[in-house]
Amino acid sequence: MSHEHDNEKEIMEKKENAWLEQQEITNQLNKQGAQEFFSPENFPEIDSLFVEKKEKLCCIDEGVFNIEDESHKMALAGSGILFPADSWEKRLDRVAELCINRGIKDITSHEGCGAAGLAWKRDGGETYTGIKSADEYGKKWSTELTAVINQKLKEAGEKNDVAHQYISKSEMIRPPEFHDARAIWFDTTSQFHPDAAKQLPKGFLIDYGVAKDEGKNEAEKEYPFAELGVAIGIAFGDHGFGGKFTAENPFIIVVVSKDELGLELLKIKIEKTIKEDKELKIHFNKIKIDGFVK
Ligand SMILES: [Zn+2]
Repeated sequence: MSHEHDNEKEIMEKKENAWLEQQEITNQLNKQGAQEFFSPENFPEIDSLFVEKKEKLCCIDEGVFNIEDESHKMALAGSGILFPADSWEKRLDRVAELCINRGIKDITSHEGCGAAGLAWKRDGGETYTGIKSADEYGKKWSTELTAVINQKLKEAGEKNDVAHQYISKSEMIRPPEFHDARAIWFDTTSQFHPDAAKQLPKGFLIDYGVAKDEGKNEAEKEYPFAELGVAIGIAFGDHGFGGKFTAENPFIIVVVSKDELGLELLKIKIEKTIKEDKELKIHFNKIKIDGFVK
């Protein structure tokens, strides 16, 4: 009992430190607003945060895509394990198509993946999936996705050397016990690459661009808003900073856009998404919806 208690105290302290470490930069983003914060005067390396091509598929988890390994990463929650589809096979097929269209060469999965946990629950846990843990389920997804992509490439007579990589907690860029995200980067350009920045608040990366460009139906086009809900749920839950967010120090959603009108419309839509969801709306006064035009 007392050991458990010590452990809890230790995690609380770690959380407090992680919060304070990011306080100054997050406060700057909050006070200045994203447009000024990311202006070339204020943020000289801004151009280097946008890349044309992404070659690695990873989770939206701030601890995963922030790994510095030179690769440009496309983010989907759990590497696509929550993507809307009628079945596991159809989901594999669709996410494989998206990866091929985007020229993805590496598929990752990672330890402690919240999205894999949701998928494992969605599919009935061990009883129905036959898989004993969410981690194993996430690994299974990414391994099979890799195989489907390689099969499709082979059939098309192309080079099929896409590989799967499992990322352990020790390799992740966040404490193993909790999420330290203070923000969401809601990227409509599919080019934003926040991990290239020297200093930014930690944030989930949601690739709205993929849905906008490649979404085949309403569910696919709306899917980034489901990811938005997942990310907010984690940030405000026990595994996130939770009660540390306030109206003065809000969780910040930053829409990254190429056009003014698109930015404003998305901000309205994100607000509506949060306000109309009974789980999310309770956090609304501790969330700031912001954005910038590049
Ligand atoms: Zn994950």
